[in-house]
Amino acid sequence: MARVSLALVPTAFVRKRGAWLRFRSGRILDVMTHTSVTAYAAPAPKAPLERTTIPRRELGAHDILIEIKYAGICHSDIHQVDNGWGEGIFPMVPGHEIAGVVAAVGSEVTRHQVGDRVGVGCMVDSCRECDNCKAGFEQHCTGTGPVMTYNATGRDGEPTYGGYSTHIVVTEDFAVRIPEGIALDVTAPLLCAGITVYSPLARWGAAPGKKVAVVGLGGLGHMAVQIARAKGAEVTVLSQSLRKKEDGLKLGASDYRATSDPATFEELANSFDLIINTVSADLDLGAYLGLLRTNGTLVQVGAPEQPLRTSPFALIQNNRAMAGSSIGGIPETQEMLDFCAAHGIGAQIEVIPAEEINDAYRRVQASDVRYRFVIDVSTM
Ligand code: NAP
Ligand code: ZN
Ligand code: ZN
Repeated sequence: MARVSLALVPTAFVRKRGAWLRFRSGRILDVMTHTSVTAYAAPAPKAPLERTTIPRRELGAHDILIEIKYAGICHSDIHQVDNGWGEGIFPMVPGHEIAGVVAAVGSEVTRHQVGDRVGVGCMVDSCRECDNCKAGFEQHCTGTGPVMTYNATGRDGEPTYGGYSTHIVVTEDFAVRIPEGIALDVTAPLLCAGITVYSPLARWGAAPGKKVAVVGLGGLGHMAVQIARAKGAEVTVLSQSLRKKEDGLKLGASDYRATSDPATFEELANSFDLIINTVSADLDLGAYLGLLRTNGTLVQVGAPEQPLRTSPFALIQNNRAMAGSSIGGIPETQEMLDFCAAHGIGAQIEVIPAEEINDAYRRVQASDVRYRFVIDVSTM
């Protein structure tokens, strides 16, 4: 791995005898042991997360070291800790909604400087050479495949560990700039929840004159309501109950319906141009497809652990379409952050200390989240 060139950079890290030395203008500023950092990990599938230490790699020429300030808890973290999608790598340090500050840069880093506010989402690398990578769709990399932020193997052959930790080392291209005027804690959830709904709303044209329904008012859903509204669409929330109606309307919805009430499916039949389904559990999608207008599209972003089910006729009638969408590429993630900052959009969050991660998991599983738990990493 390339060494940091002390002459070229204002602040540089070099590892010596197991410790990292921080230099400025060729002088040692301090000695840090960032090769080993504090984290919260699940030691085995379904096991409670516990405090531990994990290794972080030495800074390469194109790497940055990020001091993580906040990490969001995504329902995907829980699916993976539970090994609900299979093939989990344990111990697992979840976390792909990372907001922090650049603490050091490698010798050839050009995109970020020490002190910059940056975010990292679901990916930390990809091949950079395939057509999808070149087009900014790194999540669909056909070369090496995207390297996910955790529960994956990096291009160096080592397991990746996520954002429930004090520091992370990533290649500069996979860190995005957090615009001025938006706080780090409410930004962290945008790195997954925000981009995952921004991308399909942009692609399927949420705009004035369009009717959009958001199924599930959780982490993704509450971002979808805000972003769809900011794009000018008319938004309806389809939630299990009316418990969160007031919040949904405040977030920008003009209608809010309970899916536990059969009348919802009759009254709203053939209404929507676009439905974004964020639900993390098994649903009868046929009932929701019936709410689409002719040529309307239901986009599946929720990733339940069971196969999807629907009647074929729900799709055939009205020429309806069903699609999926996976997070978003790096350029679109930057575009989403800039959009959210420009529109004053952030996540509605409950900040928790690290020791409450396991309680937060239980509450997310019980749909008792308003609307994202964010770990204050300083409590680690
Ligand atoms: P979340 O905060 O738990 O929100 C999910 C919402 O779904 C809940 O708040 C609840 O909303 C609704 N819900 C939960 N259980 C339900 C049930 N049994 N029946 C009907 N509705 C139910 O989760 P999230 O973090 O937003 O993630 C949502 C899903 O998206 C997860 O499966 C996650 O893995 C997936 N995801 C996918 C991508 C992607 O790239 N496609 C990216 C990130 C996350 P109400 O209380 O309003 O009904
Ligand atoms: Zn996520
Ligand atoms: Zn690629």
